[in-house]
Amino acid sequence: MVHCAVFGCSNSQRKKEDANVHFFRFPKDQNLRQEWVSFCNRKDTVNAKTARVCSVHFAPECLMKSMQHKLLEYSPKNRRKLKSDALPTERRPTSMSTTPSKKGSTQCCPKAYRYLRQQCHWPLPGLSTLRKWASSFIINGILHSVLYLMKEKAKTLSEMERLTVLSIDEMFIKDEICLDRSLEQVFGPHKTVQVMMCQGLFSSWKQPVYYNFDAPVNKDVVKQLFECKYIVVAILIDMGPSNMAFWKAKGIDKDHVSFVDPSDPEKLIFLFADVRHLLKLIRNHFLDKGFKLFDEMITKNCVESLLKISQSPELKIAK
Ligand SMILES: [Zn+2]
Repeated sequence: MVHCAVFGCSNSQRKKEDANVHFFRFPKDQNLRQEWVSFCNRKDTVNAKTARVCSVHFAPECLMKSMQHKLLEYSPKNRRKLKSDALPTERRPTSMSTTPSKKGSTQCCPKAYRYLRQQCHWPLPGLSTLRKWASSFIINGILHSVLYLMKEKAKTLSEMERLTVLSIDEMFIKDEICLDRSLEQVFGPHKTVQVMMCQGLFSSWKQPVYYNFDAPVNKDVVKQLFECKYIVVAILIDMGPSNMAFWKAKGIDKDHVSFVDPSDPEKLIFLFADVRHLLKLIRNHFLDKGFKLFDEMITKNCVESLLKISQSPELKIAK
């Protein structure tokens, strides 16, 4: 298959950045050929007899145009020819030695990454390669690979941007054995999974930092985040059975809502109950036991009666 010989250019006959891209043979003139080869900027040798350079590297004036093509302002793709002295000048290849600046390498949104890869032809790994790499992260306990990346990222963040809220969520999962085909490993059966996720208090980022089965809250995460230069100011935690032990251990009740940061004794970390979880608990309590209102019990019976009324053809509850 034909590939463009220019270093960093990903155009090939199968995968072109647009349908109008086509490929030119190297010129026969030795001097000219040498200039094409040096434009390609490759460390390996270019076989000028078989190699091709794609059309994105040539300015429009390099193309021969018949009077008919000029008048129509169009030339059929297979009839496009280069002038005999045409030299590639456009989209210069990025040399391997050109390393991005430190700031650029650590602060790059997905859009900028795609731009650098596709338009500037930086030799960066593709999305599937990155996914494959990320899938090799060990997901059991503290996610050290994630923390390593966060530590690098922290170098570009201000103190405000590094203020962190840690969310702790214990979820009940299907009590079954599962096979992970890629790892050829059997997991389970487990009852719960504990997930710890941190996110910026003033800036928009979030990252899972802990994942483990049937495990209590890991107290080391705050310290690990501190070592990566992230300052945990609050913890959002549901009131799951094993997480309640954490509340008790930290001495949190309605009068005491914070505890001293183990990494910095002058700082407090505030604990918040997860509001969504509280609403869920209120609903469950109402369905199981009901609430006492003015010495009278309000239970699910009144909701059931309402539903019955709404089903009768004569009476409808106003929506
Ligand atoms: Zn090319």
